Amino acid sequence: MNDSTFASLGLIESILANLLREGYERPTPIQTASIPPLLEGRDLLGCAQTGTGKTAAFALPIIQRLSLSPNKPNPRSCRVLVVAPTRELAAQIDASFEVYGRGFRLAHACVFGGVGKAPQVKALSRGVDVLVATPGRLLDLQSEGQVRLNAVEIVVLDEADRMLDMGFIRDVRKIIALLPAKRQTLLFSATMPSDIAGLASSILRNPIRVSVSPDKPAVELIDQKVAFVEKNDKRAFLAGLIHAQNVGRALVFTRTKHGADRLVKSLESSGIAAAAIHANKSQNNRTRTMDGFRSGSLRILVATDLAARGIDVDGITHVFNFELPDVPETYVHRIGRTARAGASGMAVALCDSGEKPLLRAIEKILGRKVPVAAGPDFESAEKAATTARLSGADREVERPRREYGQGGRNQAPARAQAGRGASLAAKPGRDASRGRNAGNGGSSQPNRGNARGGQAAGGRSGSPRGERNEGYGRRGSLAS
Ligand code: AMP
Repeated sequence: MNDSTFASLGLIESILANLLREGYERPTPIQTASIPPLLEGRDLLGCAQTGTGKTAAFALPIIQRLSLSPNKPNPRSCRVLVVAPTRELAAQIDASFEVYGRGFRLAHACVFGGVGKAPQVKALSRGVDVLVATPGRLLDLQSEGQVRLNAVEIVVLDEADRMLDMGFIRDVRKIIALLPAKRQTLLFSATMPSDIAGLASSILRNPIRVSVSPDKPAVELIDQKVAFVEKNDKRAFLAGLIHAQNVGRALVFTRTKHGADRLVKSLESSGIAAAAIHANKSQNNRTRTMDGFRSGSLRILVATDLAARGIDVDGITHVFNFELPDVPETYVHRIGRTARAGASGMAVALCDSGEKPLLRAIEKILGRKVPVAAGPDFESAEKAATTARLSGADREVERPRREYGQGGRNQAPARAQAGRGASLAAKPGRDASRGRNAGNGGSSQPNRGNARGGQAAGGRSGSPRGERNEGYGRRGSLAS
């Protein structure tokens, strides 16, 4: 039982005020275990995945430690470096620093590949307190002399196992080699394959080890269902189900990029606005889509596993497994996108006859059967699938069409542009309360289920709970 409060963990008043504003009542288990030793400057090895509250677990003590030794960062330098595997995750972490560090006048920046370097170079020129980066772009900028890592006081490697999966581990080692030996090091990983354990033991000094059983508590809050639907009926079935259910914000997982595009096309032909996010989409397109999904203007986001990594959007009511994943643990990660931080959610898996062995493997790691979907919503989805099959309606969109993959489609509003202007206009040293008013109107409401904001390419920061917060703080995140 976790009886601690944020105050009992040793956090200072101004951070407590920010948490109150966010509506965080109690620390999550990883926060309880990590914050006190991190405040003392200990190294940490954290076994936890996104959704456990790990960003605050490291960001809060970091902000507090920075504030207690308020040295100005050197030009082209950073005091804290956070390395994350994906652009989306990096942008979200950057946004979290903005929110948790409200009132601290933190200079922070976010850099990642796939977008122009010039604004990033500019953002780094005077130095920042916190730099959040993906490995490749960071090394790029470092090799060009745009950023030096020899004054880093604290480094965080987030989602280390994903960095390994994505082939970044050599880059990570290179980055570590550029850091001063005297530093505080934090490494988070959802799993501990031997390469990560080896990396951890070579870079951490006498670390505190924190492990939260990531999947269980969240998974128990999720209403899981499996519907047995044949492959060719799946698209119409899903459309029927989305129409029938009260879907607030849904993430749909497909196996392939092409499949994601085809599904979007099919949903749209059924009158359901949707957009896909995957590696073939340009960074700007992905940013706009994510902005739309966060703001609520886009309800249905279709994603591949790779693109969905690290996406943390509150208020996802439904996760649809359009196809079952080959690796059963992936199922748990996918459905964990709903039921975040204590909310409930629904996860529906569409399983065709060929996927039954995959379902059995999933049920094995869950330790129980996934209940078979029943009830009027599912009956009407089945009816929709039958109607489509009889009329041949879905066959048209089922044919592979190359142009869908080229996409460029974008249902999400181009809010990023407005955000960029606002953020770039923010002056160093700008009065915090003025900036805040510009962004959120001074609302003290916790903002669950709203836009998380903070897409780096948009150049603005926002709440992990979703407040837009343009122009606030000393410098917003810059990445386009
Ligand atoms: P993370 O694991 O850091 O990605 O956080 C997952 C979600 O939980 C984010 O939307 C956070 O805003 C939210 N969160 C983090 N800590 C807390 C807390 N103590 N109480 C409520 N929500 C939280």
